[in-house]
Amino acid sequence: MSSYRGRRGRGYRDRELEFETSREVKAIPSFEELGLKKELLRGIYSYGFERPSAIQQRALAPALKGRDVIAQAQSGTGKTAMLSVIALNSVDIKTREVQVLILSPTRELAQQTQHTLLSLGEFMNVQCHACIGGKNLGEDIRTLDYGVHVVSGTPGRVFDMIQRRNLRTRSLRLFIIDEADEMLSRGFKEQIYEVYRHLPPSIQVILVSATLPHDVLEMTSKFMTDPVRILVKRDELTLEGIKQFFVAVEKEEWKFDTLCDLYETLTITQAVIFCNSKRKVDWLTSKLRENNFTVSSMHGDMKQSERDAVMAEFRSGKSRVLIATDIWARGIDVQQVSLVINYDIPLNRENYIHRIGRSGRFGRRGVAINFVTNEDVAMLRDIEQFYSTQIDEMPMNVADLV
Ligand code: ADP
Repeated sequence: MSSYRGRRGRGYRDRELEFETSREVKAIPSFEELGLKKELLRGIYSYGFERPSAIQQRALAPALKGRDVIAQAQSGTGKTAMLSVIALNSVDIKTREVQVLILSPTRELAQQTQHTLLSLGEFMNVQCHACIGGKNLGEDIRTLDYGVHVVSGTPGRVFDMIQRRNLRTRSLRLFIIDEADEMLSRGFKEQIYEVYRHLPPSIQVILVSATLPHDVLEMTSKFMTDPVRILVKRDELTLEGIKQFFVAVEKEEWKFDTLCDLYETLTITQAVIFCNSKRKVDWLTSKLRENNFTVSSMHGDMKQSERDAVMAEFRSGKSRVLIATDIWARGIDVQQVSLVINYDIPLNRENYIHRIGRSGRFGRRGVAINFVTNEDVAMLRDIEQFYSTQIDEMPMNVADLV
């Protein structure tokens, strides 16, 4: 493509955070050395984990000791699993009080965390409730009244339950914020503060994210006490293992044919296609279906039951191509996804890294393909510079890389 040339830039490094990994942090390379509960250790091994990942090696020990922790590591490196382990080790199964509260920005992520936690806690008899919007309020109330140990939820519904006093906070000892940058910088900030105001003052706080912009880190001082910081070097955030390409489509109208040409590649394993609006997701879905392609789709205006069904279908591999908005950009883990297509270039840099992080989970191979119109050239160049990374023109043999 003549109008777009990738360049390596310095922009990313120039914005180096002043926060570094705390000196006291040591890597602990085995789960045994962490002094976990016996049943939890058994759950971890039977789930198939052998060794802690890099972020787990560093963040688990201080978190298990009760310290506040800020953990930043690239997507797919085991942060959600880590949260579950911390939560599971801290609960006392003998009482039926909520002791751990985990907040996530989307309902699907809150449910995924609940599932991971229940799987790792298979031998612990732990009760974990997904307290999310779009579900029956009465059921939430009944489950909470019956008593659970852990709540994994989205801020709106959780706050609602706290206000109604169905979620009693007095026994909470651990507050976990997943995808913290999204939670604190955008719409959820006020709700998080509201929730936080209702928590016991001595509560331990764990904050996790793949990206932590400076202003968000500054805000954490409001509700964390002498936190241990574990931050990956910014350069490592370029998602090593994920090959990034662009296709110069020049005009919006040409994207569709380009996508149809790629369809076979999409279905080699599983793929996610991102659009910037709900309307575009709906439009692209019907247009592909008209052309006899099998695809699923998901966005925030769909009923929760529908969203659940789409997730289940995609997780099981029954559907192979998912078209989604940024609701799917963060945290969702489907290991077979090896290809992400940005049908639209994301509107902000953070979501770029989150979107492409849906592929290449836990060190697997991943490919990201960006459709670039003439208007997008500047944005893609900005992304490339910001992350000091290289986005090459898509090669003919892209299918071999997936
Ligand atoms: P993140 O929250 O950082 O995006 P996840 O916790 O979702 O990452 O983990 C990504 C994938 O790696 C998941 O499928 C998870 O089961 C797997 N995983 C996490 N920790 C380990 C580990 N210690 N060993 C093996 N696989 C792991």
